[in-house]
Amino acid sequence: MTITENKVVLIHYTLKDASGEILDSSEGHDPLAFIQGIGNIIPGLEEALAGKAVGDKVKATIEPEKAYGVRVEENVHIVPLSSFQADGDEKLVEGMQVRVETNEGVSIADVAKIDGEEVTLDLNHPLAGETLHFDVEIIDIREATKQELEHGHAHGPGGHHHH
Ligand code: ZN
Repeated sequence: MTITENKVVLIHYTLKDASGEILDSSEGHDPLAFIQGIGNIIPGLEEALAGKAVGDKVKATIEPEKAYGVRVEENVHIVPLSSFQADGDEKLVEGMQVRVETNEGVSIADVAKIDGEEVTLDLNHPLAGETLHFDVEIIDIREATKQELEHGHAHGPGGHHHH
C-alpha cells in the first residue's frame, strides 16, 4: 500500500529550519497520524509523501508557500498598551503570546515589541516565511475509517482520542 488520498499515515519526523535547528520532532512520542489529502498536514509535505510506502525515508525541503505561508505585513498591528490592562493580572512582556479578537475570530498573536505605550502584535504564524526541512520515516499506512473521514482526522495513537 502506498500513500494516496484518504489513507491514514503514521510517520516519525524531525523538522528543522534553514539553519538546521530542530523545531519539532516526534522522537520519543507516538508517530504522528494524519489523513492524506485533506489538509491535516502542510501541502508541501503531502506532496513529498504521496506515493511512498511503509519503511520509506523521505527528506523534503518545503518553501513557505507550501508550508505556513509567507509573512504578511498586514498581520502586524500596533495597539495601545492600555487595551491590555482590562484582563491583566499578568504583565505583558515581549515574546509572550496573547489571544486577540480579529474579524475572523479569536487568534493567537506574538507580542513582538513593547515601546512605551505602543505594543506591536504579530499575527503571522510563527513559521510563516520559513523554508522547512523534514526528515520523515513512514511507519504505517492504512485505510481511513468512515468515522475518521467524517471527523477529518485520524483516530488512535498519534491521532485524536475521543472519550
Ligand atoms: Zn474524531
